[in-house]
Amino acid sequence: MLEIKNLHVKLEEEDKQILKGVDLTVEAGKVHAIMGPNGSGKSTLSYVLSGRDGYVVTEGSAQLDGHDLLEMEAEERAAAGLFLAFQYPVEIPGVGNMTFLRTAVNAQRKARGQEELSAADFLKLVREKAKALQIDADMLKRPVNVGFSGGEKKRNEILQMAMLEPKLCILDETDSGLDVDAMKLVADGVNALRDEGRGFLVITHYQRLLDHIVPDVVHIMVDGRIVKSGGPDLALEVENHGYARIQAEVA
Ligand code: ADP
Ligand code: MG
Ligand code: MG
Repeated sequence: MLEIKNLHVKLEEEDKQILKGVDLTVEAGKVHAIMGPNGSGKSTLSYVLSGRDGYVVTEGSAQLDGHDLLEMEAEERAAAGLFLAFQYPVEIPGVGNMTFLRTAVNAQRKARGQEELSAADFLKLVREKAKALQIDADMLKRPVNVGFSGGEKKRNEILQMAMLEPKLCILDETDSGLDVDAMKLVADGVNALRDEGRGFLVITHYQRLLDHIVPDVVHIMVDGRIVKSGGPDLALEVENHGYARIQAEVA
């Protein structure tokens, strides 16, 4: 589903290479986790895949379902089924959460050649999905993420994901800043979306999220490269011995 080959990325503003040859394939139905120390390039990878400005691909490729992601505008990538849940969800003053979701869902449906949802059908769907994530009606009426707590913002990201039904979901440190209960809610939300037609890339600094979202494959990223891949046990190895041992092993 997602196929990244030898991806090299540098910053547009300065001559700094951040990704130095990333190879990664995420199959439909699988959950791949990426772990790695701070500054190793995990967020950069998610930004480059989703089409954020400020990065230059100097070598390599990234395809979603055989389509060249890197040639597409950010909104085309979203329409093609890519979803990024942000490490730091942005506040959008003046845009109601409900309006935002409805606009996004209908744009997505249009891109897929489906009819727009009626107001009543949309309302039913959003209420049902919000309830599962313990997002109350008041949060749906407020501007997107404005005044939301850290946990509420992350749950709102998962609500967006559930509403948009993406093919490939990227979660960038969605667990950061969450207490155990909020993390469990987020994990349950993700697990409910696991599907044989959908792939996940779960980026996390700590292993604890992976107790709840058990990945099929774990990758370790160090200094812009994936240096080791393995099963869920690899996450436990990191938890027990830190990244230093893997870095030493690789060196
Ligand atoms: P991670 O998510 O693994 O913590 P990042 O992708 O955020 O890593 O960052 C990788 C490296 O690139 C870091 O050294 C970071 O400081 C640098 N970096 C990323 N984006 C920018 C930017 N826009 N300007 C300056 N440095 C950046
Ligand atoms: Mg970081
Ligand atoms: Mg990051």
